[in-house]
Amino acid sequence: MPLLENRTVLVMGVVNRWSLAHAIAAALAREGARLHLTYQGERQRETVEQVAAAFPQARTWPCDVASDEQVQALFARLASEGVELDGLVHSIAFAQREDLDRAFELTSREGFRVALDVSAYSFIAVAHAAAGLMPRGGSLLTLTYLGSERVVRNYNVMGVAKAALEASVRYLAADLGPRGIRVNAISAGPVKTASARGIRDFTSILDQVAQRAPLRRITDPAEVGDAAAFLASDLSRGITGEVLYVDNGYHILGV
Ligand code: NAD
Repeated sequence: MPLLENRTVLVMGVVNRWSLAHAIAAALAREGARLHLTYQGERQRETVEQVAAAFPQARTWPCDVASDEQVQALFARLASEGVELDGLVHSIAFAQREDLDRAFELTSREGFRVALDVSAYSFIAVAHAAAGLMPRGGSLLTLTYLGSERVVRNYNVMGVAKAALEASVRYLAADLGPRGIRVNAISAGPVKTASARGIRDFTSILDQVAQRAPLRRITDPAEVGDAAAFLASDLSRGITGEVLYVDNGYHILGV
């Protein structure tokens, strides 16, 4: 039997077919999940609708997570249609380009606010709202990166946002555990996506991982998708508050 038969999962963060959220949606759909996909705004709508068309019964909804009104409206619409969720995938991050281009010490107050708001706070907001649609319990998942705990060149304020996101995973897991809701993160190795292109010298990070990771290759998005399917399923029923590295072992290395 597929791992996620009769499960409904909301996937936030597909912008195109290279998005990690797309690989995750594909793995969840393969395992039998019914999907709801969100897109950030009108500009992303058509592409996300095309992506959704490949998944049986998938539906699409707008939601800019920087707006409390849009987050509330999304979950109110899902509730009004009688949607109950078994899972949520938050695959969203944003930092201003200039804060990824210059020294970390020059991070502006506004740049810090935007990065932490969109990349970390939004997970708290959608986790709270999604929990209200999970009467049978469920699984919440977000995406993080090694730059939360090590200095990764040019990752800068996004590393600070990911540290806040990982701490939020643990606090949310403690809050929501008694309701049968698990909260975890996948720390993915670097993958060339639209967001990753915003990080200066990203190609040199990919080269270094390919040469040094224990498994001697860069992360295949499908590997992240399969790990997400595991975390969304009952196979991981004893796991919460965890950061699971899907990076071909790169994070274990010292100098
Ligand atoms: P991506 O550009 O495909 O996805 C980022 C998504 O964030 C997009 O869908 C974008 O629309 C969405 N987003 C940004 N601001 C938003 C807002 N205000 N409201 C709603 N949506 C918003 O890039 P990706 O690499 O697939 O990123 C997905 C997640 O994976 C991010 O959290 C990223 O930090 C994380 N991650 C990426 C890598 C990598 O190397 N690509 C590695 C580890 C973790």
